[in-house]
Amino acid sequence: MAEITNIFCVGRNYALHAKELNNAVPTSPMFFSKPTHAAVEARGQTIELPGNQGDVHYEAEWVVHIGSPFKPGLPADGLIDKMALGIDFTLRDVQSVLKEKGHPWLRAKGFLNAAVLTPFISFPGVEACRETDFSLQINGKEVQRGNIGQMIFDPQTLIDFCGSHYGLGAGDILFTGTPAGVGKVADGDAFSLQWGQDLLGEFSIALKQN
Ligand code: ZN
Repeated sequence: MAEITNIFCVGRNYALHAKELNNAVPTSPMFFSKPTHAAVEARGQTIELPGNQGDVHYEAEWVVHIGSPFKPGLPADGLIDKMALGIDFTLRDVQSVLKEKGHPWLRAKGFLNAAVLTPFISFPGVEACRETDFSLQINGKEVQRGNIGQMIFDPQTLIDFCGSHYGLGAGDILFTGTPAGVGKVADGDAFSLQWGQDLLGEFSIALKQN
């Protein structure tokens, strides 16, 4: 996998997902980040996740890779050079406690292997991407399906917000939020991420007890 500079993620960017977790729909993009150590490429291998910290949830997301430095006014189509699908793995029980206490989300979102990515593919432009659904199958059954046209904040808005507040440059990636259907991972689950009919990546899960 090519070197990743920063991993930015957006929370609650699909209305039905915000609702399924009883969260309010935000009025501006809600960004958080993950350490680059969390990133791992899905190449058909077994990926270890924490098995002793409560529920681990999957969140399938459309991921964009930035190819050149952000400047205000630049179109998203010019800044994004490739795309992938990813899973924003989340320790949901840990996150609930952190939310209650008002603590940062790092423990729930930043652990090793918490950012699984398929290999990147060429980016056909935002408009073209609206014509294709992405989906997650677990053990052969579809559990999530999304389309970037359903986003609360579109790619341009996300890039403008992220770039102007946190900076955005070549090598940065953005997890753009998950559609409805998130759920709990079980030991041995087999994951496949599809862009339309194309399989972009697959892996299976080992829940680690220590
Ligand atoms: Zn997410």
